[in-house]
Amino acid sequence: MSVFDHPAYDQHEHVAFYHDIKSGLKAIIAVHNTNLGPSLGGCRMWPYANSAEALTDVLRLSKGMSYKSAMANLKLGGGKSVIIGDPRKDKSSDMMLAMGDFIQSLGGKYISAEDSGIAVSDLKTMAQRSSYIAGTHAKYRYDGGPADGNPAPSTAYGVYMGLKASVAHKLKSDLKGVSVAIQGLGHVGFRLAEHLHKEGAKLYVTDIYPDNLDKAAQQFGATVVSPDEIFALDVDVFAPCALGSAINDHSIGQLKASVIAGAANNQLAEERHGQMLMEKGILYAPDYVINAGGVIDIYHQKQGSTAEALRKHLEGLGDTLTEIYQKAEQQGLPTNIEANKIAEQRFLAGV
Ligand code: NAD
Repeated sequence: MSVFDHPAYDQHEHVAFYHDIKSGLKAIIAVHNTNLGPSLGGCRMWPYANSAEALTDVLRLSKGMSYKSAMANLKLGGGKSVIIGDPRKDKSSDMMLAMGDFIQSLGGKYISAEDSGIAVSDLKTMAQRSSYIAGTHAKYRYDGGPADGNPAPSTAYGVYMGLKASVAHKLKSDLKGVSVAIQGLGHVGFRLAEHLHKEGAKLYVTDIYPDNLDKAAQQFGATVVSPDEIFALDVDVFAPCALGSAINDHSIGQLKASVIAGAANNQLAEERHGQMLMEKGILYAPDYVINAGGVIDIYHQKQGSTAEALRKHLEGLGDTLTEIYQKAEQQGLPTNIEANKIAEQRFLAGV
């Protein structure tokens, strides 16, 4: 099948394949849209079963970045890259240098950051060969503290601001006494729990690993539940912060929360689940809007702006969500569809 006939191909501007025989690098870069600016997105290394699987992933992910950056008001387009291989077994410095050559060959149409399987140290190796690498020289955190090279604090702060705006729209103006079920206490979920606890929310948490669960119980008085129990809890907010597709036919049937606001990418198993949530009276914070803190962080670090500017930008995510909710209600549309409409208008027009 050619790229143009691929079901995930959606007017992508540029799709490039690269095989470096010496290092064994096999990689694909997809640039979805650059009307708003150069495309930026992470480089993912994953043991794809075959190149068709890798192509599907990079086409979908790059398109998603066009929507995310447009909704975050960034002058960036959507792009992504994938390396076919197991990051624990197949990665080498030569391979990362070759990836740098590949990125450089696109002349700045695509700027790479990190994604699953790629660490900041790998990006630094790529940067020896390419000037189009971002996320290697973070200087500050949004709160003025020193950066540790991880955008998760910004993502968590953005999700917290977005969750607060969603609760304000649907339930009440503050988080005191609001109950939140967090699925996944990783880099983002744990920090989100910390913000919510400080503001008096009552927390229910789950993970497949115990480490952070014990910490959350001790530090935030969180109630620990099993991964299967998290969906059906009688809570105000469900915050998916683990893997994608948490919202599906099965989980929607169980949910009692009236707001869904979390960090995970691709929360809806299918777009139609947004309609099902609307019919059930559940307010859904579109994932790529509420979890844009990471790319916003990378953008500000790249521009050399201040921690204060970054923090304000993250806080603006709450207003963006409120605007989406109001417009969606006026039009009678699910929030995911309304967000898609606004993002498409922006990146197609390039303003
Ligand atoms: P992470 O890997 O640090 O945390 C994910 C956590 O979810 C882990 O602790 C894992 O054990 C847990 N988990 C996995 N499956 C689970 C299950 N079935 N039930 C309960 N817990 C489960 O990842 P992260 O950086 O915290 O990111 C969380 C989500 O947010 C991911 O979907 C990621 O793509 C998305 N996201 C992250 C960022 C960022 O800056 N880190 C930015 C945007 C989006």
